[in-house]
Amino acid sequence: MRIIYLGTGGEEGFPSVFCECSACKKVRRMGGKNIKTRSGALIDNVLIDLSPDLFSQSVQNHLSLSGVTHVMITHSHTDHLNTHAIRLRMRELASVLEPGQEKKIKIYGNREVYRVIMDAVSKDCHVTSDRMEFIQIRAFERIRAEGLEFISLKANHKKDEECLLYAVQNETGCLLYANDTGELPEETLDFIRTQKLCFDLVSMDSARGTLPGDGHMGLSENLNLRRRLEEIGAVRENTRYYLNHFSHMCGLTPKEYRRLVGRYGFSLTYDGLKLEIGRGRVCRR
Ligand SMILES: [Zn+2]
Ligand SMILES: [Zn+2]
Ligand SMILES: [Zn+2]
Repeated sequence: MRIIYLGTGGEEGFPSVFCECSACKKVRRMGGKNIKTRSGALIDNVLIDLSPDLFSQSVQNHLSLSGVTHVMITHSHTDHLNTHAIRLRMRELASVLEPGQEKKIKIYGNREVYRVIMDAVSKDCHVTSDRMEFIQIRAFERIRAEGLEFISLKANHKKDEECLLYAVQNETGCLLYANDTGELPEETLDFIRTQKLCFDLVSMDSARGTLPGDGHMGLSENLNLRRRLEEIGAVRENTRYYLNHFSHMCGLTPKEYRRLVGRYGFSLTYDGLKLEIGRGRVCRR
């Protein structure tokens, strides 16, 4: 299973466009892996979320996404649900496909995601409706896509919407992709335990950094989650932990935060990070 972290930042990106906090100022100067676009990932050939930065991410990674026909959406926040990208994929003049390429893109998400997408699509007279199918899902469903199994899990993020996380598995390994969320609901931990999921790679929200968690986690919630996963046997000794969706909130730059979390055995994601899970091992590509 191959993972590309297309974007790894919080809602405002890093540096935040209108922000003069010391972390954003430093990151603007430092550039490189400190720059974080809004979060999303490509797992083999399936996208998790559609970042508002999808255009620059595809350019940066030399990637055409025309062959992607399955997209799993976590929730309706605009840093994860870029309806403009959906409309462009549904326009024949914007997205010319090769002969024989699948025309329809399947998008999976909750009811609110469906409402937001349909609202945007219905106002666009250039889209072709048979280019997109929406599949409404809830937490604790199993979806097969491109040889992978996606298992939707309940997040703890937004009160008025069932936000989702995903466990992704195939015969080579298992990934937990867990942002945007605060501490995981007991229901989700119970499900992981009873379904005997065991992760090779745990990707966790750490938007709050050194601050206490809320609808996002910080370092102390990340340590807690690792402990809980250990207790229920959902991780092994060689499981790798990556902190994701890091933001400027706590005032540290990604470089400073990476150094701090490294002491606890965590790595920090960065835009363009490529990982591979195979035979229970996680390697950088
Ligand atoms: Zn977010
Ligand atoms: Zn800032
Ligand atoms: Zn969110």
